[in-house]
Amino acid sequence: MSKYSQIVRFIREIYQKEDDFIPLHEPLFAGNEKKYLEACVDSTFVSSVGEFVHDFEVKIAEYTGSKEAVACVNGTNALHLALILCGVGQNSEVITQPLTFVATANAIRYCGAFPVFVDIDSDTLGMSPEALRKWLSTSTTKQFDSRTNEYRTVNIRTGRIVSACVPVHTFGFPCRIDEIVSICNEFEVPVIEDAAESLGSFYRDQHTGCFGKIGVLSFNGNKIITTGGGGMLLFQDENLAKKAKHLTTQAKVNHPWEFLHDDVGFNYRMPNINAALGLAQIEQINRFIESKRYIASAYRSFFSDIGICYISEPEHSISNYWLNCILFDGKAERDRFLQYTNNHGVMTRPVWKLLNELEMFRNCEANCLRNAIYVSERLVNIPSSALP
Ligand SMILES: *Cc1c(COP(=O)(O)O)cnc(C)c1O
Repeated sequence: MSKYSQIVRFIREIYQKEDDFIPLHEPLFAGNEKKYLEACVDSTFVSSVGEFVHDFEVKIAEYTGSKEAVACVNGTNALHLALILCGVGQNSEVITQPLTFVATANAIRYCGAFPVFVDIDSDTLGMSPEALRKWLSTSTTKQFDSRTNEYRTVNIRTGRIVSACVPVHTFGFPCRIDEIVSICNEFEVPVIEDAAESLGSFYRDQHTGCFGKIGVLSFNGNKIITTGGGGMLLFQDENLAKKAKHLTTQAKVNHPWEFLHDDVGFNYRMPNINAALGLAQIEQINRFIESKRYIASAYRSFFSDIGICYISEPEHSISNYWLNCILFDGKAERDRFLQYTNNHGVMTRPVWKLLNELEMFRNCEANCLRNAIYVSERLVNIPSSALP
């Protein structure tokens, strides 16, 4: 039996599906979803007012150990707002990684800012602290701003202010976030963690998204828990969280009847009906993680037996194993595998095209992306849903 058919057979065994199509990741509704949704509809508060949003925020804050959590319409909006809260504006620059979902860089462009792409580590798939330090120390200089009495880091070549850094916990694997935060502190650059894929992943016993100034989660349909569409901002600073909540609700000032708005706000607040679904989902997070870690360990031993590189959680980390990853020797073999599995009803996907190669980001700064290029040609995601 060929290696590829052995893999397909193994995946079909795990999911106990002999012929049916096996998706990459599907949501699981095995708890109070219908009950809470019904209660939400019965209450008539399905939109911008209602108890579920607050309850969901409290549960997420508790689970992640963050001081405050503010719910948003989706993860992309949450990233946009996080960048605004860090002062990212027209013609500033934001450091991020080229290997991520396009939303990370899009949110930067919504602010009129430009992404700068630095390389990843090939064990974490997240931003490399060495590459970050190298770029900051060779391409930027510190300038004193007499207007704000603060130092700021400026790109020597472009003259633009470097106003944030957005590392990603790719596929749920925690990046070296402690080192990244400490380097960024040296350069006075705030860190926003794109933890959209890493709910349930911990680095040195601390939840991802709680190391930087702001953390961002997503509850899109393909993520580890879903609200249909949704996102969350994680804060350790209560005042910043207050400001975020204010901006998500059109910056409306509290008043029994007046329409008073004190800023250009957004309609970014999560609707109550989405939060009802989210509350039922977060109640099951431990079960989802347990199931996903069981699948991961089955994959790990299977791929080790047949001699294919399987990516395991890096040192000091607990991964949620949102999407399992295997690496092939080269692009041609990767493509043969993608063709075979998708032809046989088992969904597999290559990793995203590197963002610096997309038309709209082609002119952005991108240096020495050796690891990102290596991984982008070889990595394949395989079915990873939690078991029912
Ligand atoms: C899913 C995702 C987002 C965006 O979240 P949405 O809720 O889909 O808007 C951002 N970054 C990464 C890395 C993601 O995987």
